Amino acid sequence: MVKRVFGPVPSRRLGKSLGIDPVPLKTCNWNCVYCQLGRTNPFVTERQHFYKNEDILTQVRETLGTHAPGDIDWITFVGSGETTLHAGLGEMIRGVKSMTELPVAVITNGSLLYLPEVRQELTAADAVLPSLDAGNPDLYRKINRPHPIFSFDRLVEGLIAFRKVYENQLWVEVMLIKGLNDSEKALKEIADQLEQIQPDEVHIVQPTRPPVEMWVEPPDEEALLRAHAILGKVAKLVMPPMGSFDFGSEEDLVEAIVGIITRHPMRESELIQSLEKWSSQNVKETLNDLESSGKAQVITRYGTRFWSASGSHYPNSKHESK
Ligand code: SF4
Repeated sequence: MVKRVFGPVPSRRLGKSLGIDPVPLKTCNWNCVYCQLGRTNPFVTERQHFYKNEDILTQVRETLGTHAPGDIDWITFVGSGETTLHAGLGEMIRGVKSMTELPVAVITNGSLLYLPEVRQELTAADAVLPSLDAGNPDLYRKINRPHPIFSFDRLVEGLIAFRKVYENQLWVEVMLIKGLNDSEKALKEIADQLEQIQPDEVHIVQPTRPPVEMWVEPPDEEALLRAHAILGKVAKLVMPPMGSFDFGSEEDLVEAIVGIITRHPMRESELIQSLEKWSSQNVKETLNDLESSGKAQVITRYGTRFWSASGSHYPNSKHESK
């Protein structure tokens, strides 16, 4: 059998992640405009046993045997398509958990969570990461282009029902796409749905790898700020990296602040956290000095204040600066 276990690969959210791919390329009931696996043709709508669980579990056991403790942070089900279409997923999660103490995550589009058996199977995982890219049926059809039997209402109802039975980490992924779901209206609609779902975290992701449709573009910084402000009110937000924030060798606080806010406008509390090698008082005073000297500015979006480099241009920034 072709190897269905890969990595460990570095994952921003899951550290060193050992991947398990339980479905063949490309097995999906959606056809997302941003998919990096190419178009879905044909749709697969029924759960099936694509591989023998025992064969995949043998590969997992062998791979774990070749790694020292500390080499792997998470074991992640992430497919060449939709993971929950594999009918033996629950049994496989339990099989992995019986052979290691490592936490197990499942990346899924969430479309099958309306099925009680899928909800039951996923409760064995330590983290489940479903998608919610739209807050209304039209946009859902435009972005995710699902097989017609998978309606928006079914998706949201499945997510809400899963949250009710799932006690571990539910991290909803929102793929932000320029001009599609990054407007104030679209983000507020997503926030409304998230309020009902009650995830532990919301992870903003953006199409960084080649999307299937060439017109798909990542959001600009203004849209990321908007998402931060609107979705950040619902749950803890994990934003995409916008440059490296490794200050290991940076000795100059001004350089460190300007370096970070030029690439990524940040809330004051986040800045203080990122710059923990300096005292919070020192960071606050330096920010105020930078603002007075015109090197930094405060941008307010939807009631949230962000520090940004003065060279960044935002609509109405002059009026909205402190
Ligand atoms: S759900 Fe995942 S695999 Fe399926 S089309 Fe969307 S991005 Fe691709």
